[in-house]
Amino acid sequence: MEFIDLKRQYRAYQEEIEAAVLRVLRSGRYILGPEVEELEKALAAYVGVRCAVGVSSGTDALLLILKALDIGPGSAVVTTPFTFVATAEVVKRVGAQLIFADVDEETMNLSPEAAREAILEAKRRGVCVRAVMPVSLYGLPADLPAFEALAREFSLHLVEDACQSFGAAVGDRRSGSFGQAAATSFFPAKPLGAYGDGGMVFTDDEGLAEKIRVLRVHGQTRRNWCEYGGINGRLDTVQAAALLVKFRHFPAELARRQEVAKRYREGLSAAPLRFQKVPEGYLSAYAQFTVRAPEREALQASLAERGIPTAVYYPYPLHLQPAFAEAGYPPGSLPVAERLAEEVLSLPMHPFLEPEEQDRIISAICEFYGV
Ligand SMILES: *Cc1c(COP(=O)(O)O)cnc(C)c1O
Repeated sequence: MEFIDLKRQYRAYQEEIEAAVLRVLRSGRYILGPEVEELEKALAAYVGVRCAVGVSSGTDALLLILKALDIGPGSAVVTTPFTFVATAEVVKRVGAQLIFADVDEETMNLSPEAAREAILEAKRRGVCVRAVMPVSLYGLPADLPAFEALAREFSLHLVEDACQSFGAAVGDRRSGSFGQAAATSFFPAKPLGAYGDGGMVFTDDEGLAEKIRVLRVHGQTRRNWCEYGGINGRLDTVQAAALLVKFRHFPAELARRQEVAKRYREGLSAAPLRFQKVPEGYLSAYAQFTVRAPEREALQASLAERGIPTAVYYPYPLHLQPAFAEAGYPPGSLPVAERLAEEVLSLPMHPFLEPEEQDRIISAICEFYGV
């Protein structure tokens, strides 16, 4: 059994993907070819924003947003410590100050109240907070309406790290359509994954999108003329072609993920696990199905013995890691994130997980807890 079975997905769409990739290989247009623009248009329409810019990874999507917003030395960004390292890494990379605020116990996402406290505290110390960057963790949108209000209240930019949440929604608005801009990732294991690295920026702000288009080609406004300090941040045509194929199947996959999640919730209801709470009106993209498990290490070992793969996202909150020590958050300072890091366990989750396989996982967990 695979944790995320990408080979099964490939076999399901093999003919279409190979035909699309072959067309690119024969076309000679390997970087930013016509498929990139086609993908940008299709995904912008799906997310519900005016502009989308295809870039080289989710990390670069975040980095390009910060650069385009001129967030650098002298600015601070508020974010969550309970996320993949890239979220905080880009803040450090542009030279801005990292401010961590704790997460909500139930949704595991950045708490708007904690973020508000952190902003007020920063203001008292004369720190210039320019952006708040919640992460829609495991595919569950953060409390984006609350962050929009917070951004308005303090005149900040809201930047959603939607790297795990393509397809998710709050009411009738998709993840990626809130705030100033959002970044998603096409890393193969993400809900919409490519066959290599890739990412995309979503925004309603055409000026910002245009600046990101310039920044992704080294900041060149025309050939050999650098207007800004940019990066090599382009999306490959081959990846865009494969993504266009996978995007056709994406709605069906998203629906399958909901069924898999429902079966877990029902099948594991007697076990002493706590689930990530999906608030009323929220749709998770279920990049991961993550539970809080007492005796996590023993459970994980017991499942491994039966050939059931699991993963811990994330065992160390960012503020306790050496790279972010200078942000100044000692152990105990962000207690909810620290507790979650000790308890979370992600179970196999992908659209091709068979009911029989899932039942085997559920039985193994119930047996472990004797329920
Ligand atoms: C995957 C991920 C990223 C980075 O995306 P890459 O495409 O791997 O660079 C950033 N933030 C979060 C929350 C992620 O899960």
